[in-house]
Amino acid sequence: MNRHSGKICRKSKVKILKIDIMTLFPDMCRAVFNESIIGRAINNGILSVNAVNIRDYTTDKHGNVDDTIYGGGTGMLMTAQPVFDCYKALCKDETKPHVIYLSPQGKVFTQEKARELAKKEHIIFLCGHYEGIDQRVLDKIVDEEISIGDYVLTGGELPALVCIDALARMLDGVLPNEEAYSNDSLYNGLLEEPQYTKPAVWEGVSVPEVLLSGHHANIEKWRKEQQVEVTKRKRPDLFRN
Ligand code: SAM
Repeated sequence: MNRHSGKICRKSKVKILKIDIMTLFPDMCRAVFNESIIGRAINNGILSVNAVNIRDYTTDKHGNVDDTIYGGGTGMLMTAQPVFDCYKALCKDETKPHVIYLSPQGKVFTQEKARELAKKEHIIFLCGHYEGIDQRVLDKIVDEEISIGDYVLTGGELPALVCIDALARMLDGVLPNEEAYSNDSLYNGLLEEPQYTKPAVWEGVSVPEVLLSGHHANIEKWRKEQQVEVTKRKRPDLFRN
C-alpha cells in the first residue's frame, strides 16, 4: 500500500492527490489499489490512497462500532464515536480534508463532479454500512454526500472506489495526455462517436469510408456529427441539457 508522501511528487513535480477511505472493510478497498488506473496513479506517485479501518478507533470494550436505532426499526447503525475519532486522526495536515459521505441520499456522481474532485488536495471518502451512520457525526464532519445511482448498496466501499477510479484517470500524468480522457463520453456533455479498429472489413462490414480517407477535417466533422447523433439517440436527457 502506498503511504502519503507529501504534496508534490519529487520525481515529476506533479501534485499528489491524497485520499483516505474510512471504512469497516479496508481489505475490500485495498484489493484494487494495485490494479489498472488506480494502481498506475499510485505507482507513479500521483495519487496516495490509504484505507483506514474505523473499527481501530472504537473505544467500546467489545470492539463494537454499531448499535440499535433509537425509535426502533430493524438493523444497526454505525455509532458516532469511532467515526469521529478516525476522522480526527486523519486531520493532521494544515488544510481541512474534503469529506464525502457515500450515500444513496447524495447527489448522483457525474463526470463534472469527478473533474471538480480531481483538483482537491486531500479527500476523505466515508463509507457507511448496516443502516448507515449516526446523523450527528455526519452533520459534524461531512462536506457533501455522493450517490453513485438510485439504488441501495450494502456499503460505501464500491461507490468510493468508483469515484476514485473516475477522478484518478484525470490526474496529470496518469493517462498519456489530456485527450485520452477529454475525448471520452460525457467530458464535454456528449457521448463518444462509434470507434473501429483493424481489420477494415470484418464479417463483410466495412468501417465508415471517411475514417479510411486520411482527410482530417472530414474525419473531425464526421466525429462531431456522430457524437450529436449518438447522444440524441442514447441519452436524449443529456442532449436536452
Ligand atoms: N439506510 C440507508 C438509507 O436508506 O439511506 C441506506 C444504508 S446502505 C444499506 C449502507 C451504506 O451503503 C450507506 O451508508 C452508504 O455508505 C452506502 N451506499 C448504499 N447505496 C449507495 C449509493 N447508491 N451510493 C453511495 N453509497 C451507497
